[in-house]
Amino acid sequence: MNFIDDTQGKQIRSEPSPGTLYLVGTPIGNLGDLSPRAKSILQNVSLIACEDTRRSGQLLKIIESTVPLLSYHKHNFKSRQSQLLKILESNGSIALISDAGLPGINDPGEEFVQAAKLNSFEVICVPGPCAATTALVISGLPSQRFCFEGFLPKKHSVRKKRLEDISKENRTTVIYESPHQLTKLLEDLSILCGKGRPIHIARELTKRYEESIGNTIEEVQEYFIRNKPKGEFTIVLGGNKYNQKNKESESEALRKLKKLIQEGEKPNMAAKKVAEETGHEKKWLYSKLHKQLDK
Ligand code: SAM
Repeated sequence: MNFIDDTQGKQIRSEPSPGTLYLVGTPIGNLGDLSPRAKSILQNVSLIACEDTRRSGQLLKIIESTVPLLSYHKHNFKSRQSQLLKILESNGSIALISDAGLPGINDPGEEFVQAAKLNSFEVICVPGPCAATTALVISGLPSQRFCFEGFLPKKHSVRKKRLEDISKENRTTVIYESPHQLTKLLEDLSILCGKGRPIHIARELTKRYEESIGNTIEEVQEYFIRNKPKGEFTIVLGGNKYNQKNKESESEALRKLKKLIQEGEKPNMAAKKVAEETGHEKKWLYSKLHKQLDK
């Protein structure tokens, strides 16, 4: 058991605590990203639930942990649940890890967190690397508000609808994609988003051949004609309203707004429609309209 310190160096609690589930973030490439706290938890819990015992076994070997591993993945999570809850009931502690990154982010975890909470066990996250947030913060795209889509649905019609929604989204969107689907995804995005939409592709984050590829969908498409996609990719797509090259002039947007209202559309609805069509903010259009009406 280890005492942990807060940022002022005061001891706040000893870990691992009995009857507690720890969600432990593990490296997405660079082993140096395993935090001392994560390492200590992985050395001292009663059991580690992981996606792939062979893969996580290698990590445990490196950190000299002898804690037993139990597989927990999308095919067995339902049957494992009661087994894991029994360990917590008998005052054991569990660390849940995925192959890489933060468990629960496009990886198993969510269901067991719900079960543990329903049964009043404490759930604590030992934060660590996450491909989505790492790619987002190096993209240079707006990160104050963003959406996370993870992997797109496989079924054609559902995927198409999701991509349409993503193309209209005003916030930055983060997507996970496999290397052999990347070219198709870029093709679909270029059709739906039009010219000039900003995009940033993070390849092999934290690893030896880490790369950042941007700036627009067309530029990135060209890059991947010359370089076959290999490795792991996280895609960060700029929001619809940042499609500056496609943005219509302010006067043109206001002209459209007035025309719609003259044709009988309610001002609020007209502003919404014109905002979607022109890339201008609904609030801005609405305020301009009011200023003109007040004159
Ligand atoms: N739970 C993980 C996390 O917190 O990042 C994500 C797991 S998800 C099954 C795996 C996907 O994450 C990959 O297909 C890729 O899209 C993205 N990813 C994982 N590691 C990455 C890396 N080093 N560089 C870029 N993308 C990565």
